[in-house]
Amino acid sequence: MVSLNAIDRLQGLFSKLPGLGKKSAGRLVYHILDADPSYARALGEELLAFHRAIKRCSRCGSYTEQDPCPICADPAREPVICVVERAQDVRVIEESREFRGRFHVLGGVIAPLEGVNPENLRIEELLARVRREGISEVILAMNPTVEGDTTALYLRKVLRDTGVEITRLASGLPVGGDLEYADRLTLSRSFRGRVRL
Ligand SMILES: [Zn+2]
Repeated sequence: MVSLNAIDRLQGLFSKLPGLGKKSAGRLVYHILDADPSYARALGEELLAFHRAIKRCSRCGSYTEQDPCPICADPAREPVICVVERAQDVRVIEESREFRGRFHVLGGVIAPLEGVNPENLRIEELLARVRREGISEVILAMNPTVEGDTTALYLRKVLRDTGVEITRLASGLPVGGDLEYADRLTLSRSFRGRVRL
């Protein structure tokens, strides 16, 4: 019989995941208990191997099983870089099928109060790529938040010397909203209507 402690421990771990409170974490725990044991085993094995299997692409910074990632390794990608805050934004934009260029993951946005300064983000790497890869346009796809705006202005300043065209995703994204929750149509519109900075 499973001791109550094991249930509590797993519930505690699940409740640390975003969007899961204690109650829904508990539901997951009992769901796993009720399910076929092979499910728990597969889940455990995948989690154990996860960090070994997935690494960051040394070029764009997104998560990948091979380095460089399939997008960076694709010679058919246009010489345009879409700059995003987090690795999961790459997936959202890829699924919209609106963009056929390359990506660059910053790893966050400038937020001095939270201790995130420009040197903590992958900005030097971006500058190097713009020069090395002959990039014609940089699309800034930060979320429309105060920190996103600050970061866009900062990037415009440091990119200016490279002579690359700099654009930002158009409105259509809800103000203060999250790229992750934008639907495909909204995302397509903001790509087509992007504005020059
Ligand atoms: Zn990559």
